[in-house]
Amino acid sequence: MAPSEVIEAQGSTSTKPTQHQHRSGGRLAHRSFNHEPLMVNSAHGLQIHLANGQTILDACGGAAVATIGHNNDEVKAAVQTQMQQVSYVHTQAFTTRSAEDLADLLLEGGPGGLEMALFVCSGSEAMEAALKLARQYHYERGETERVHLVARRQGYHGNTVAAMSVSSNVARKLPYQMEGGGGLVYPHVSHVSPAYAYRYQREGESEDEFTARLLREIDDEFQRVGPGRVMAFVAEPVVGATAGCVPPPKGYLAGVRALCDKYGILLILDEVMCGAGRCGSFFAFEQEEGVTPDILTMAKGLGGGYAAIAGVLMHARVVDALKKGTGSFVHGHTYQAHPVSCAAALAVQRIIRRDGLVERCAAMGEVLERLLREELRACRSVGDVRGRGLFWAVEFVRDKDTKETLDPGVGFGVKVQVAALERGVAVYPGSGTVDGVRGDHVLLAPPYTVTEEQLGVVCRVLREAIECQEAKYL
Ligand code: PLP
Repeated sequence: MAPSEVIEAQGSTSTKPTQHQHRSGGRLAHRSFNHEPLMVNSAHGLQIHLANGQTILDACGGAAVATIGHNNDEVKAAVQTQMQQVSYVHTQAFTTRSAEDLADLLLEGGPGGLEMALFVCSGSEAMEAALKLARQYHYERGETERVHLVARRQGYHGNTVAAMSVSSNVARKLPYQMEGGGGLVYPHVSHVSPAYAYRYQREGESEDEFTARLLREIDDEFQRVGPGRVMAFVAEPVVGATAGCVPPPKGYLAGVRALCDKYGILLILDEVMCGAGRCGSFFAFEQEEGVTPDILTMAKGLGGGYAAIAGVLMHARVVDALKKGTGSFVHGHTYQAHPVSCAAALAVQRIIRRDGLVERCAAMGEVLERLLREELRACRSVGDVRGRGLFWAVEFVRDKDTKETLDPGVGFGVKVQVAALERGVAVYPGSGTVDGVRGDHVLLAPPYTVTEEQLGVVCRVLREAIECQEAKYL
């Protein structure tokens, strides 16, 4: 089956298997019940080998997950050693060297005042824990009226109930909502404008003015809710899937920090996608002076795909409040700080540090930006190319001058993904809702080990895939 048939079938009719497709038996629930994904036999470095004989160059690391490439021998050895020593203990009574060392490694030097780490299994769980931690912080301090969360439109924070509630993905919330609020969606949430210059910066407005306007809106929202009722402000420093690698304007994160300080509101930074080196600094927030999160979440790049692991990093002031209060975080999972996951993540993080891969990510990011801008310059549908480090998005439009979005029925980003897959390159499609209209982008997030030659192939194939869709739909 051609990848196009596989992916385009999402949400529509069921797909028919061909001799190329190794059917899974149909009992595994895939992302869509109508869509049979491609069967992978093995992966090595940046190459994914399919059961149909095709080899795919992984230019998106899954969804910005793979950082050191697939099938690394050192990580496999670390996992095996951990398995041989101890595969599991419960954290109520026990701890392991790999979990302790991972926390020490991530928090070495107290980045941004972060002092303690909790390890869970996914980005959603990390965000759920972060939101509860924020609530417990205020509870311990007697500020029990702080229940409200302010997040941003075009932000994604996960699929569990609270994480979904602060996310802006309307469709994902719909079945769980009740008219007039309530239902399974946490009701005390409001959203402000995204810090998304391509769409929201006004003509003639300087970057500083744009930042100031966004900050005024946040301040107004805190005032509207009542600053003493707000628990936390939640944001991805560089927005991932919902808007496509959107870095904030200069001064924005520091300004948000100052506003949070003014009202005693906690700042939760979601670095599930943009963290762990992906943006060219280990934490994405480090690229702006004066930003110190109270709680930071990270996931995808932490284990680099070798383990299902995520982290919740806590600022000293949060740790202190809990120590002086209940004495623990009232939260826990059976598999928290799982020794094998921690061993895998520790090995990945040691490799990243030893091999200078964050610096490499920043340097290769410059190459990727240059190649993308050169290759896509003449593409009629490419409205914006933006990103940081090895985290780049290409946003598609019907008209470059008006920035009019493409017909959402076309699914242009997915069509580009399919055409790129047919040519042997994996990119990650996404969509954001722009003033009620669904926009399209594809995301590039290759492992930090990517070579200049591979980036050249990725950009050339991406251009061909885009041109092929432009010929059909523009
Ligand atoms: N936060 C962000 C910024 C994400 O991009 C994601 C996943 O894409 C999540 C949270 C949820 O992570 P997970 O899918 O591991 O639950």
